[in-house]
Amino acid sequence: MVRIIGGGLAGCEAAWQVASVGVPVVLHEMRPLRATAVHKSDRLAELVCSNSFRGDKLDNAVGLLKEEMRRLGSVIMRCAEASRVPAGAALAVDRDRFADTVTAAVSAHPLIQIVRDEVASLPSHSAADPLIVATGPLTSEALSADIVRLIGSDHLYFYDAISPIVLAESIDRTKVFRQSRWDRNIRNADEVAASGPACGVDDGQGDYLNCPFTKDEYARFYDALVHAESATVHDFDKEKFFEGCLPIEVMAHRGVDTLRFGPMKPAGLVNPATGRWPYAVVQLRQDNLAADHFSLVGFQTQLKWGEQARVLRMIPGLEQAEFVRYGMVHRNTYVNGPTVLTDTWQLRQHPGLFFAGQMSGVEGYVESAASGLLAGINAAALAQGRPLSAPPRTTAIGALAYYASHADPAHYAPSNITFGIMQPLDQPPRGKGDRKLAMSARALDALDDWMKGRAA
Ligand SMILES: Cc1cc2nc3c(=O)[nH]c(=O)nc-3n(C[C@H](O)[C@H](O)[C@H](O)COP(=O)(O)OP(=O)(O)OC[C@H]3O[C@@H](n4cnc5c(N)ncnc54)[C@H](O)[C@@H]3O)c2cc1C
Repeated sequence: MVRIIGGGLAGCEAAWQVASVGVPVVLHEMRPLRATAVHKSDRLAELVCSNSFRGDKLDNAVGLLKEEMRRLGSVIMRCAEASRVPAGAALAVDRDRFADTVTAAVSAHPLIQIVRDEVASLPSHSAADPLIVATGPLTSEALSADIVRLIGSDHLYFYDAISPIVLAESIDRTKVFRQSRWDRNIRNADEVAASGPACGVDDGQGDYLNCPFTKDEYARFYDALVHAESATVHDFDKEKFFEGCLPIEVMAHRGVDTLRFGPMKPAGLVNPATGRWPYAVVQLRQDNLAADHFSLVGFQTQLKWGEQARVLRMIPGLEQAEFVRYGMVHRNTYVNGPTVLTDTWQLRQHPGLFFAGQMSGVEGYVESAASGLLAGINAAALAQGRPLSAPPRTTAIGALAYYASHADPAHYAPSNITFGIMQPLDQPPRGKGDRKLAMSARALDALDDWMKGRAA
């Protein structure tokens, strides 16, 4: 038997996968007995915010991830199709119909028993009776405290302050300069040759890309920032912010120079174009191994996504920026995956215990369901004494599992699926669109091979 805590996107998908191979499931869901700050109903798989599962084409990483999930028999994808509403190239759903359809499908499965209770401490687990924790970003306090007891407080986070990430190729390199503050990370050519790439950029000239502002540019940016519109406020957003991760717009409202003495501090950064420190600076840090994503350092924000795009494109060098992820500040309970998880979503120290969904350190509806899918497949395999495995990193679902278990733990942040976290092509086609389609074609072949290997 597999026990699953949390009847959200990840928990329902995991339950379905486990039951599909003939293993009984007990699925615990605390609603309606205990509410969360954002869920509104007692239904399983309730979408708490947008009704979109994002892009649905193969030139888009989340479109690829969805296609992989369909091939793996995802109940979430099947129910999403059944409640689809027109949304151009995206997959969007009627949220009530979607939750109803998932609730009906999971409740009707003869091998799934749904128990409505709050699980306040981790039940026992073993290889014969694995446990999957899929309690989401708003995991109840009692259970969070018990998870901390098991894995340690350094490995569980409760709050997310996410800076926006831009695509490297969309940064105007004629305007930005590469340098670490006070030249701290500059290494000479011999050191670079001996020890390989620096943690950020690989040529020994500093780990950051710096976007320099003149006084006028800063004044225009500041004005746009303080007048920009914030995202809808949820109840829990009324919680006090940690001083260490204030949204930039909150800092800006404290005074015109607050940002210049905070994340936009120019000290120690000499602009080669002027030979002087700029008036202010936004620093960009490499965000993934492939070096095609850069995050805006210290730029967590609650501005609406459209407003973020508008205001942040006023930063010199980011006029044409493509955003891979927008900034956020919200309650989010998740483990630091790379320190505790394997790519099969098991705890390294407790192989009978799996984490899935947002809790496992991924970001987004589709990604949460995808990690639940793989955790379910592997928990069932463990219970049946079959080998466990993850699809290769050339697939989107395998790349997500690899990222959550192998990214840099020091700067770990939950990620959406992007082509940037997948294994690059050996011989990429020249055009961006062709490159993405080639990655998707390779991924689907690799997934089919992996599925055949498991079935053999
Ligand atoms: C406010 C907010 C808005 C978001 N908006 C979006 C968005 O627009 N698009 C997007 O892609 N992603 C969004 N996300 C991120 C994420 O994709 C969703 O939170 C998603 O629902 C995560 O799926 P999940 O299965 O991990 O968790 P959930 O869907 O939250 O499911 C977890 C379930 O566990 C239950 N539970 C918690 N603790 C216990 C317990 N101790 N015992 C029993 N049951 C328990 C909860 O009641 C819940 O039903 C948002 C997150 C938040 C917090």
